[in-house]
Amino acid sequence: MIFESDSIRVTLLAQGIAELCFDAPGSVNKLDKATLNTLGQAIDAIAANHDVQGVLLTSNKDNFIVGADITEFLGLFALPDEELAGWLTMANDIFNKLEDLPVPTISAVSGFALGGGMETILSTDFRVADESAKIGLPETKLGIMPGFGGTVRLPRVIGADNALEWITTGKNYKAADALKVGAVDAVTRPEKLTAVATAMLQDAIAGKLDWETRRQAKLTPLHLSRTEAVMSFTTAKGMVAMKAGPHYPAPMMAVSTIEQSASCDRTQALANEQVGFIKLAKSEVAQALVGIFLSDQHIKGLAKQATKLATPVKSAAVLGAGIMGGGIAYQGASRGTAMVMKDIQQSALELGLTEASKLLNKQLERGRISGSEMAAVLNNIVPSLDYAALQHTDIVVEAVVENPKIKASVLAEVEGNVTDNCVITSNTSTISINQLAQSLRDPSRFCGMHFFNPVHRMPLVEIIRGEHTSAETIATVVAWAAKMGKSPIVVNDCPGFFVNRVLFPYFGGFTKLLADGADFQQVDKIMENQFGWPMGPAYLLDVVGNDTAHHAQAVMEEGFPERMSATPGNAIDLMYQQQRFGQKNGSGFYQYTIDRKGKPKKQICQDAIELVQQPQPTNFSAEQIIARMMVPMVLETVRCLEEGIVASPAEADMALVYGLGFPPFRGGVFRYLETVGLQTFIAMADELADLGPLYQVTEGMRQLAASGRTYLT
Ligand code: NAD
Repeated sequence: MIFESDSIRVTLLAQGIAELCFDAPGSVNKLDKATLNTLGQAIDAIAANHDVQGVLLTSNKDNFIVGADITEFLGLFALPDEELAGWLTMANDIFNKLEDLPVPTISAVSGFALGGGMETILSTDFRVADESAKIGLPETKLGIMPGFGGTVRLPRVIGADNALEWITTGKNYKAADALKVGAVDAVTRPEKLTAVATAMLQDAIAGKLDWETRRQAKLTPLHLSRTEAVMSFTTAKGMVAMKAGPHYPAPMMAVSTIEQSASCDRTQALANEQVGFIKLAKSEVAQALVGIFLSDQHIKGLAKQATKLATPVKSAAVLGAGIMGGGIAYQGASRGTAMVMKDIQQSALELGLTEASKLLNKQLERGRISGSEMAAVLNNIVPSLDYAALQHTDIVVEAVVENPKIKASVLAEVEGNVTDNCVITSNTSTISINQLAQSLRDPSRFCGMHFFNPVHRMPLVEIIRGEHTSAETIATVVAWAAKMGKSPIVVNDCPGFFVNRVLFPYFGGFTKLLADGADFQQVDKIMENQFGWPMGPAYLLDVVGNDTAHHAQAVMEEGFPERMSATPGNAIDLMYQQQRFGQKNGSGFYQYTIDRKGKPKKQICQDAIELVQQPQPTNFSAEQIIARMMVPMVLETVRCLEEGIVASPAEADMALVYGLGFPPFRGGVFRYLETVGLQTFIAMADELADLGPLYQVTEGMRQLAASGRTYLT
């Protein structure tokens, strides 16, 4: 043994091969601060041992190194620039030391080698992967860029064009794809990994493989002619501008850094990387995206905990084969739950199955599933017109029409046709769970399970706890939602639950703006381009359906009359009265035609403008529009937290990002408040206080601001 620590062992094997094995105490290897330190010591120990002829990097886990420890990021990013630079320099000194060892080096990679893990293997001369390997540099997805030499070594190993693609998309690549571009030198079966890597290292030691020339390429400028450089970097910038857009600066910074470093040696290129990294690490976007990653982990952790109390769901039934029922059946079946889809009409069942087939066909065309996998999923959905099919069901999701009387009778019928252990849920979007529970003999086995449309694409499932819902019921539903690949967030019952409760004040802000003379197309543009929503409010209403919104508006009004009483004749009412329901019937705030791909295309509609806009327009600045739209949503989110509707700021933010498409680079309402500053936000809201109760800051928020703390500290 040459070296031993908690996470790394170095053993001297036969023929002078030193095996540096990553083997952290937990289930995965991470490149946290402590591991990085010991990596430095391990390399020093290797360098000091004159018997070492070559170095083999391995892992004693299923994964090589999953990446840096992201839980350390926000603390590191908050350090003063010089300290952050010091940490990066310390890390880079270690990777340089590994790269500069006087003997050949090789990495044997299985499972994930991501971020810092990939930067580790890029520091060795050769890389062998087994078929399970997945490698990549996902940093730009977190609003930063590689900081341990990834922007320097990857272009020199796989060429500028490939490296630009890898780094700006942040994707993981399978071993075979990595081999194609030369990110790894060989791919082997898992059981042969060490043997193949050892043989290659022996060849290098014996001088049969020229490791020194390879290494040299990583220390010197990129081999690119002027024309090639212009072509590569201009194309990459065009792609990034189109795909990432102005709100996500990391991919563009990575391109500029690689361009700037193209003519530099390793030392200068690493210095350039450091400058770019620090700039990004200090950005609000990086804080927001890292925050989302950590909150997502938190939600996954809660779902994992829930499995302890949960009853495993093997078979499930969905009642109603409509838009939602069909989507839920597909989602459950494709994640391995045997699904029954029950409706009262044969035609509806056929429509539901056709929808599922269409989704599967798309996956088949894209090569994501095989024909037999597709058949297996379809076979996993059993259509039925009869309750008898529900006899052995573990869980039922009611997704029939949004009518309280019909739902009440359907739920009572269901309870009479399932076992006493079966959990019953409703996908209602507006009806109180406590009210629906009254139609059941045992309300402890009942809760809301609110999926979003389209089910296969929207990650959130809002799980609504009624006053009698048992902890076991919630745990079972949470665990099943997670098994379906969704992000479950548990909330308490109230009108609109959490997501719609905070969405309707935002729509309230919108209809008031229109009443005061705003131009809805301008509002849409500002909320999309400047705030970053995927759709502005008018467009979103057309997608949700102005009839659905009109109905939900009434529910919210009844639930919170003091705040959410809509002004009669508001834009949503007008759209509804004129049967301008939105995309579903071709006209709403905009007009829709179907394009060649069968997707609705939005066009300006003069009739709609005349219907909802004031004859005398008022000019609002972008700041005014954003404030008038966002203040009501933010304050309602705060009220939900204060009333315990949602348990934590992290869960609230994730529900907004996953359920409504709240711009991820802003991280959700509470992260947004952190960025704006509580005092500034309160001043902004107070200035709009005349607009009504939706704009009244809560006492709790004032107290928090006065204490100098924030929702996230
Ligand atoms: P839909 O009208 O597309 O489908 C309803 C289906 O229920 C129809 O196929 C109908 O035949 C069937 N049905 C009616 N009575 C039934 C009964 N007694 N037993 C079995 N089936 C019966 O409606 P949808 O848009 O899928 O909405 C269903 C539920 O999901 C509603 O509660 C709605 O509020 C909620 N929801 C809808 C959306 C959305 O965007 N569409 C989003 C979230 C939640």
